Amino acid sequence: MALTERLLMGPGPSNPYPEVSAALARPMLGHLDPEFLALLDETCERLRRVFATGNRLTLPVSGTGSAGMEAALVNVVHPGDTGVVGVNGLFGERMAEVASRLGAEVVRVEAPWGEPLDPDALVGAHPSPAAIAFVHAETSTGVRNDVEPVTARKGGALVVLDTVTSLGGMEVDVDGWGVDVCYSGTQKCLGAPPGLAPFTLGPAAWERRTARPPSWYLDMGLIAGYVDGTGGRTYHHTAPVSMVFALHAALGVLLEEGLEQAWQRHEDCGRRLQAGLEALGLELLAPKDHRLAQLTTVLVPDDLPGAMTEADVRRALLERDGIEIGGGVGPLAGKTWRIGCLGHSARPANVTLLLAALAEVLER
Ligand code: PLP
Repeated sequence: MALTERLLMGPGPSNPYPEVSAALARPMLGHLDPEFLALLDETCERLRRVFATGNRLTLPVSGTGSAGMEAALVNVVHPGDTGVVGVNGLFGERMAEVASRLGAEVVRVEAPWGEPLDPDALVGAHPSPAAIAFVHAETSTGVRNDVEPVTARKGGALVVLDTVTSLGGMEVDVDGWGVDVCYSGTQKCLGAPPGLAPFTLGPAAWERRTARPPSWYLDMGLIAGYVDGTGGRTYHHTAPVSMVFALHAALGVLLEEGLEQAWQRHEDCGRRLQAGLEALGLELLAPKDHRLAQLTTVLVPDDLPGAMTEADVRRALLERDGIEIGGGVGPLAGKTWRIGCLGHSARPANVTLLLAALAEVLER
């Protein structure tokens, strides 16, 4: 069956790709089994293609996206370093907190939730920061932060970029943009279950890495160093074998579809969703020129039917139609809905279903 047919006929909106479900059901292999190591190597190679990088140190960190964030910062931020952190949502806030726990002097560059970061403000916040860290696609607000205007003028700073909600769903070009450390998560546009953090660290970051970071588990010097004299691997930690199977399969589906095609699919579905929401008279939070396609934030209208709360609307969609949309977080709690159209769920039929179901619940 052609991939496009499978995409149209796949399981329900919240499920991963059928290939991924099959990979999760594969019989277990030992984590040092040569067959598993070959599959892990191929997974790292697939990640290089998706990140658009030649970085040798590219691998799935064993942990969720937040483990990727910790791994990124703990390996390059030394106590006393100045770290400029862009904060315009929950995940920028988390980056600032992680950097501060590592003893960095955090210079926060803020924008209101719902607006993009100002690249000039990020670049100009400090004359010689050790690192500039920010989120590419802010999942809490549906806003895209521009990367190239920052990397082009990063000077001696290492750029640390969160691509948890962008990788696989829109262009990410680690080497072309000059990003030094980049991480993601498996559960968003890659279409795999949560549990691994795709991660890549370039040569400049490797040179300047922390010699003995406060985390043993996430010390990339150790992980990259667990190779025996024959080029084989020795034990560092037990890799989550089934999750690697799942990521390997999800990356296979993505690369077979084609990265640019996958970005376009997310773009088409997201824009179609957004046009449909506006046609229902709903207002979107993010400004049009920085609005993500894969994550749409909608302002909760003040004329919900009857005595319905915004949580009742979400519950009705989930219980009746099997569609999960997210509530707002932080200062946007109770004020927005967050509608993901990512990975396997980014397909026209799901958009049609959501719009019809929402129109019915909202009586519009
Ligand atoms: N960064 C962004 C942009 C995210 O959207 C998320 C999770 O949604 C994270 C980091 C943290 O990832 P996880 O929840 O997998 O730890």
